[in-house]
Amino acid sequence: MNAPTELARAVCPHDCPDTCAMRVTVEAGRAIKVVADPEHPPTQGALCTKVSRYAERVHHPQRLTTPMKRVGRKGEGRFEPISWDDAFQLAARRLSEIARRAPEAIVPYSYAGTMGLIQGDSIAQRFFHKLGASQLDRTICAAAGAAGLKYTYGANIGMLTEFFDESEVILIWGSNPIASNLHFWTRAQHAKRRGARLIAIDPYRSLTAEKCHQHIALKPGTDGALALGMMNVLITENLLDHAYIEAHTLGF
Ligand code: SF4
Repeated sequence: MNAPTELARAVCPHDCPDTCAMRVTVEAGRAIKVVADPEHPPTQGALCTKVSRYAERVHHPQRLTTPMKRVGRKGEGRFEPISWDDAFQLAARRLSEIARRAPEAIVPYSYAGTMGLIQGDSIAQRFFHKLGASQLDRTICAAAGAAGLKYTYGANIGMLTEFFDESEVILIWGSNPIASNLHFWTRAQHAKRRGARLIAIDPYRSLTAEKCHQHIALKPGTDGALALGMMNVLITENLLDHAYIEAHTLGF
């Protein structure tokens, strides 16, 4: 007879604005199935592929459960399990050697851990600072987008995905949402069925670009020129929404 199960409500722990709602089946304290919550409007009953097989991945027999130390040459693929204590000591010894010799040779590369305040915003910085590591702007993925949002909206916030349903034109610039933004892409499809035009700007003909009405395959590094050109046309051909600019912007 199967053990009794209970259903827990949860939220995806990844660093992802969709913040999907999940329903987790728990059997004897063990999560055995993770599905999307169909009642959560942005999630709409679908989790991305990173998370939809969470239970299978966590309990997979090949999942690493101890640190592994390389015992062969690089690339040879020979590793053996070691204890956490041994792994910490090994890492500390090797990093200390470099820190004594040339600390800036250590490039900090880490992100938010469990996304909590302790891991996300303090410990990694202290750790690398203590080592004397190189200084690095700690995000290599979102700095430009965050700066753009601050200039445009005044804060690092995006648009509700639900609003995309009503769009008439959707410009997808430097993004491949079929692979990386499932819930936005679902909304873009709703809008497309209602008559919206989808335009992709991307040097690469991604899966998303293939499915848009138009793909502008600009040369890498020319996005800025294209953006300035578009602004120039908007201004010189008077294609702007002046009432909106008057009501919602400063110093246009
Ligand atoms: S899209 Fe994927 S990573 Fe993002 S919140 Fe949903 S399940 Fe998590």
